[in-house]
Amino acid sequence: MKVIDLRSDTVTKPTTKMREVMAYAEVGDDVYGEDPTINKLEQKAAELVGKEAALFVASGTMGNLLAVMTHTQPGNEIILGKNSHIFQYEVGGLAKLAGVQARTLDDSEGIFSTKDLLSAIRGEDIHYPESGLVCLENTHNKAGGVAIPKNKIDEISKTAHQHNIPVHLDGARIFNAVTELEEQVIDLVAEVDSVMFCLSKGLAAPVGSILAGTQEFIDKARKNRKMLGGGMRQAGILAAAALVAIEEMIDRLALDHDLAKKLAEGIDSKVVTLESVNSNFVILKVNEQLYDTKGLITELDRKGIKVSQFGSDLLRVVTHKDISKEDIDRVIDIFSEL
Ligand SMILES: *Cc1c(COP(=O)(O)O)cnc(C)c1O
Repeated sequence: MKVIDLRSDTVTKPTTKMREVMAYAEVGDDVYGEDPTINKLEQKAAELVGKEAALFVASGTMGNLLAVMTHTQPGNEIILGKNSHIFQYEVGGLAKLAGVQARTLDDSEGIFSTKDLLSAIRGEDIHYPESGLVCLENTHNKAGGVAIPKNKIDEISKTAHQHNIPVHLDGARIFNAVTELEEQVIDLVAEVDSVMFCLSKGLAAPVGSILAGTQEFIDKARKNRKMLGGGMRQAGILAAAALVAIEEMIDRLALDHDLAKKLAEGIDSKVVTLESVNSNFVILKVNEQLYDTKGLITELDRKGIKVSQFGSDLLRVVTHKDISKEDIDRVIDIFSEL
């Protein structure tokens, strides 16, 4: 039985082409700046998002942490959504490793309001920490994969900049946002100072993320990456696969979004109802009179379908390149048989 793994797009396997180019990638010592494939990836990634420079990092978590460390000083306060990945799911690295405290705002809809931002920005007072950074997320994971439109990103960025506060965008799934909004990525991230995006989620590279920003910012971030132990050597092997990810895997994300819609249209059954569908995320509400949520996850697992829990009575179902139309049909059938 083929397991249909819908827990996350992080489970995507590298493509055959990725494995081939990895085998023959030209490499060098990247800590000396001498890995030609890494250099090519960083240049292409910077051009792709319209920033001066980019840095290949081990993970999205490392990219976000580097952004926080590089934009701020220890003792600063950073402003971010209370449901943001950086606040919820990055092991408190912002406090422990960057030495900043978090000021969290309501981002239930995916982004906080300008009004809330303004009330959180610190003025001059002997008691206050300095507001060092604003962080946004697109697509927003905990809000159900919702894509944040350009005007909202721009408005928050403008307000932060008026107070001399830089803005970092956690764009782990920025290309899903671009696909959903039918925007150009360069426009969508034009007003933020730095952006991180993941190569290893929907884009299916085996490892890595990109942090992009000004040349000066990336130079500093590169040194911080070394401090964290993230200076890699013949990393061109990984960059080769990442180049395939950005050259060949972005345009196909629309297929994942289509599959999410297809699933959303067919899924209502006795056991679950559709809560939301955005980008490649489908959120389902469990009918707890029939199944408790954990019990349903176990039952689905027994039938070869993996989904993740997303709240007390919610399931998260994520489509990606290793999921086919037939898989979605089977998932719909299995739900209706429960
Ligand atoms: C996955 C994810 C990250 C972190 O990426 P890792 O590579 O898993 O460390 C950061 N932000 C968001 C919104 C994510 O979905």
